[in-house]
Amino acid sequence: MPALELNGSRLAAERAEAMSVRVSQLLRSGAQAPVLATILVGEDPASATYVRMKQNACRKIGIDSRAIVLGQDTTTEALLEQIEQLNQDPSVSGILLQHPVPGQIDERACFDAIRAEKDTDGVTCTGFGRLSMGLDAYGSATPTGIMRMLAHYGIELSGRHAVVVGRSPILGKPMAAMLLNANCTVSICHSRTRDLADVVRSADLVVAALGRPRFIPGEWIADDAVAIDAGYHPADRCGDIDLNAALIERVSAYTPVPGGVGPMTISALIENTLQAAERTAGIHPGS
Ligand code: NAP
Repeated sequence: MPALELNGSRLAAERAEAMSVRVSQLLRSGAQAPVLATILVGEDPASATYVRMKQNACRKIGIDSRAIVLGQDTTTEALLEQIEQLNQDPSVSGILLQHPVPGQIDERACFDAIRAEKDTDGVTCTGFGRLSMGLDAYGSATPTGIMRMLAHYGIELSGRHAVVVGRSPILGKPMAAMLLNANCTVSICHSRTRDLADVVRSADLVVAALGRPRFIPGEWIADDAVAIDAGYHPADRCGDIDLNAALIERVSAYTPVPGGVGPMTISALIENTLQAAERTAGIHPGS
């Protein structure tokens, strides 16, 4: 049987339609349009592109975005002050601080300064801790998008061995926590993992999130496994898995790159932001 393509572009478009309806309902209730505040610090062109893509996705469904652009030499104190202003502003539903920030900034302190109810990109320690405990929190956008995609396509998780390659605070760690909450048996791999190939071979589901183009060869992935590629390398238009035709023949499901995880990341951020605005307006949040 051919592998199931987990098409993030298509699913994100479907969810965007449903979100537009929810925004209209929100406006009809007398509430203001949701607002996502985006903070871009420095001159990294890739970050500027990602922020623009998120703003465009907001616009399409009727969410306003407020763009804050700060210089390369911004200090931690100045960024904290900006975040606090947005925390205090009742018109702001969610705050996105685009990662990475310039090296002189204490990024963790700035992430953690975002109020839990506006942490719609899911980057705070509080949010991660609550999520790990199975409590209500906005999950980190990329793993949340992946979980929504797995649920949509009916991928069975309970009891299966999931191997997450990467342990970053915004991707690998929350991904592992979400899969554990979904009753997977989870292995987390990183740069010091021994015999990575053997660990990956033992997976029913692999999430590649290490940030190295085509690092995981197809041969490492078992027959009938589910291959999720969170990596994206625009110059090569590839992810972290060497997703070739032979691999697609053998796996049960896979995410294309591009068009897999990326669109679902943006979708998760804007859906979390919409949910935050619905909560403020006292409207029962959609699922
Ligand atoms: P990151 O912060 O650089 O973390 C990379 C992780 O991979 C680290 O935990 C690192 O291990 C591990 N790693 C690096 N080399 C390895 C190796 N040779 N073997 C095993 N593990 C290794 O990256 P990130 O922010 O999580 O992003 C990862 C990838 O996802 C990137 O390609 C990024 O572009 C992509 N991404 C995509 C989206 C999206 O929307 N699609 C969003 C965010 C990120 P150590 O901890 O030991 O250093």
